[in-house]
Amino acid sequence: MRSAYDLELEDLSELLPEEPAYRARQVFDGLHGGLRRVDEMTEIPAALRGRLAEILPAGLTVVSERSADDGGTVKWALELDDGALIETVLMHYERRSTVCVSTQAGCAMACSFCATGQAGFTRHLTTGEIVEQVVIAARAAAPRRVSNIVFMGMGEPLANWKNLAPALHRLNGPLGLGARRLTVSTVGHVPGIRNLTAEPLAVNLAVSLHSADDRRRDALIPLNRTYPLGVLAEVLADYVETTHRRLSFEWALIDGVNDTDRDLDELAAYARPLAAHVNLIPLNPTPGYLVRGSTPRRVAEFAAGLAQRQVTATVRMTRGQEIDAACGQLAGRTKVELRTKEETDVGP
Ligand code: SF4
Repeated sequence: MRSAYDLELEDLSELLPEEPAYRARQVFDGLHGGLRRVDEMTEIPAALRGRLAEILPAGLTVVSERSADDGGTVKWALELDDGALIETVLMHYERRSTVCVSTQAGCAMACSFCATGQAGFTRHLTTGEIVEQVVIAARAAAPRRVSNIVFMGMGEPLANWKNLAPALHRLNGPLGLGARRLTVSTVGHVPGIRNLTAEPLAVNLAVSLHSADDRRRDALIPLNRTYPLGVLAEVLADYVETTHRRLSFEWALIDGVNDTDRDLDELAAYARPLAAHVNLIPLNPTPGYLVRGSTPRRVAEFAAGLAQRQVTATVRMTRGQEIDAACGQLAGRTKVELRTKEETDVGP
C-alpha cells in the first residue's frame, strides 16, 4: 500500500474495527467522490482524522507544478513514497479537460524518440498511485470537471496490467468517469492487448504505431522485434471484432523518417482493414534524439494523403511543449535536475 487510493472499502473497514460501520464508507466517499484529503473531512471527528493521517499511506507529493498555454496545460512532477518521480499533465480544451496519467516510474520499452524511454525503468505504479494522479489533477481543475483520462504519460500501461485494470474500474466506478472517456495507449504490447480485449470495461485503445514497416519500426520501437506488425494486426483485429470499439493509431510525424509517400501507402494498407483512425502528431523535440518534426505543410499533405486512401485522420494539437509536457517528453528528471531547470526557467 503506497497511497490511500490503494485501499478498497473493505481495507478501510479493517483499519477502523472500533468505528461504526458507516465510517469506512464516509472516508472512501470523501477520498473518491469528494476528492478530499482526510484533514478536510470535517464530518469525521478530529481525533479520528488525526489517526487516519498517521495510518494511511502518504501517497504522492507534489514536487513542482508548471503551466503553459495560458494555464491551459499544467504539468506536475510527483514524488512517490520511495523517492521515484513521475509526471502528470492536465490539459483544458474548450469542451473537455483531459488528464494524461503515468503508469510506471520510467519505462523499459526504450523507444528511440521518447525522453522517458531514454531514462530507463524504475518500477510499476500501484493502482492507488495511478488513481491519485487523477485526483490531484481533478482538484486543480475545479470548478471544471475532468472529463477524459489518457494513459499516455510515463510507462507502457499494458505492461502494468495488474495495477492498471483495477485503476480503470476505480476511475469508472467511484470517480464516475465513463469507460468511453478512458483511453489506454500502448506501443504494441500484445499480451496486454489480449487482456484488454477480454476486459468487460470497454475503454478506448490507442496504438503508438509510428511506422508500418517492421525494419523501420524496430528502430523506433524495440518491442516491435518481439511483436512485429503482423502479430500486432492479428490481436488488433480480434480486439475490434470482440469489443466493437474504434481503434486509433498514433503517428508522430518525423521529418524524412516516417512522413514519405511510401509511409503513407504502408500506413493506409495497415489501418484500412482494421478501420483504425489515425492521429497525426507533429514530433516534439526530445533531447538525445536528433531529428526534426515534419513541417506543417508536410503534416497537412500527409493528412490529405490518408483521406485519399480512405483512412480517417486528425492532426493533433501539440500542448505544453515549453514545459516538456508534450507526447514523448515526460522524463521524470531527478529532483536536483528539476530544481536546476526551474531555477533556470525563472531566471533572467
Ligand atoms: S513511448 Fe511510451 S512505451 Fe515507448 S519508451 Fe516512451 S513511455 Fe515507454
